[in-house]
Amino acid sequence: MPLATWIKAGTSATALVLAMAGTASAAPTTPTATAQPGAQAAVVTLRYDDSRAAGWEAAIAAGVASWNASVTNVRLVEAAPGGAAEIVIVATSGWPQATLGPVRPGRQVRVELGSQAVNDGYNKTRIAAHELGHSLGLPDTKPGPCSQLMSGSSAGTACTSAVPNATERSRVQSYYANYANALAASVVTDGRTLVDAP
Ligand SMILES: [Zn+2]
Repeated sequence: MPLATWIKAGTSATALVLAMAGTASAAPTTPTATAQPGAQAAVVTLRYDDSRAAGWEAAIAAGVASWNASVTNVRLVEAAPGGAAEIVIVATSGWPQATLGPVRPGRQVRVELGSQAVNDGYNKTRIAAHELGHSLGLPDTKPGPCSQLMSGSSAGTACTSAVPNATERSRVQSYYANYANALAASVVTDGRTLVDAP
């Protein structure tokens, strides 16, 4: 149902929920599912398959750990060998690139970790964390400072930070908080491929 129809047909309670959902910082407390002691049940688990990302394993593990330490509404776990995965990670000889999410359980996005960026001196862990940021729904924000993960290559080759800043964490939190409640359909996976050539 289009948003306009929602508002037109909605009760005041519906309007209140929509208004609250629009405030990213309200995400941890708005959905009842995540506000309860059994919050574990509301965490969205996404599986990643890095079986075709030879040479990037350590960078991927560090990038995954960074995201898992930064957000609570979504969790990245390694897929079982040969099993299904929402995030398929492959190593290439080109520029890093990724499908723009936020990817949903049961759907699939692709991350390409390109050695071209490594050859040019960019940090592998920052690359992996940045591309996973795309999987989680964050677009590029270039140019930007090193403290901003989605500023990507614009922060320069000396930047090794793989940690999302508060704004980036908040955005991902809100995407996956919405998934956990009745407003899931209001956040749609983008699906564009973003190429990270400087
Ligand atoms: Zn990017």
